Amino acid sequence: MPLRLHKLIWLFFAAFLLAFMWLFLNFGLCTDEIRELELKDRHTRVIEGQLARLQKQRDKLLKDLEYERQKQANPDTSDLPIIYVITPTYARLEQKAELTRLLYTLQHVINLHWIVVEDSETKTQLVTRFLQKSKLSYTHLNVPTPEEYKLAATDPNWLKPRGVLQRNAGLKWLRDNFNPSTGKGVVYFADDDNTYDLLLFEEMRFTRKVSVWPVGLVGYLRYERPVVKDGKVMGWHTYWRPERTFAIDMAGFAINASLLFKRSEAKFSIHVKRGGLESEFLTSLGVTLDDLEPKADGCTKILVWHTRTEKSSLKNEEKMIRKYGQGSDPMIEV
Ligand code: UDP
Ligand code: MN
Repeated sequence: MPLRLHKLIWLFFAAFLLAFMWLFLNFGLCTDEIRELELKDRHTRVIEGQLARLQKQRDKLLKDLEYERQKQANPDTSDLPIIYVITPTYARLEQKAELTRLLYTLQHVINLHWIVVEDSETKTQLVTRFLQKSKLSYTHLNVPTPEEYKLAATDPNWLKPRGVLQRNAGLKWLRDNFNPSTGKGVVYFADDDNTYDLLLFEEMRFTRKVSVWPVGLVGYLRYERPVVKDGKVMGWHTYWRPERTFAIDMAGFAINASLLFKRSEAKFSIHVKRGGLESEFLTSLGVTLDDLEPKADGCTKILVWHTRTEKSSLKNEEKMIRKYGQGSDPMIEV
């Protein structure tokens, strides 16, 4: 009996040992496997990262190649599509400074025609002289915005659209002067106070229908931009009503000039509700989301900024007259 018990204890001990070894081995293996899996996972992520970078490089090179091909197909630069830049502008203290900055940008762009449209009853001396000295190919137009459509000094800037009739005057000039059967042209609406990277103009140069890209410092965001998936625009990264068909700022798109002739009535509406100006215009051109060509590296680069210039104060002019008998010379143009 004691012998049997002895055996039983041994047997029990052996079984326990075996079970323990089995567990130890398995557990050991498990952690090894996990470690190995983790390593593989990290490795995969590294490769995936490299692949994403290479794909980006490839896209960029393909784009450069496409641009070079396009240029070779148009060896004479005068045969490149002309970029028609439509700029509404109005008289204010900062006007000449804004126009000077914009002019110096545009002077660097080949095959460009600047359509400057003054919001005024008549063409002003300031803008007339400024354009005469500009060394740029330009057209000078004017059309006043009726008083009831003007923004009051105290109004928030989104209350009424600005530059509407002026952009339409630019479109009318194009319809009267551009020949879509012989010319190649792209139309871009460039406000006088924004900031433009020169690369932007080459991005839009070969627009087939409508090119789109992000705009920096707009909509109370760092940027707004089209949401792009597999090279297609799927929606809009905007805070304000992203459900708009084209939730895009004026600075964020360019159109092929020939579109103006397919929809000869298309223009900007002065009656649109807040944020509807661009969307309704593109809709009136018969554009669909499918027509949009995402530029600026799949809409990942900011090449234009919706900058706004601080209003200058002249509060010392009066004080100057009171204290010294005269202020700044009104004959000196600012
Ligand atoms: N503009 C105009 N008449 C006006 C106000 C503005 O022609 O009464 C022009 C302005 O020079 C600019 C464009 O319209 O080129 C857009 O105006 P603004 O920059 O004031 O608009 P925001 O930047 O506030 O959208
Ligand atoms: Mn502006």
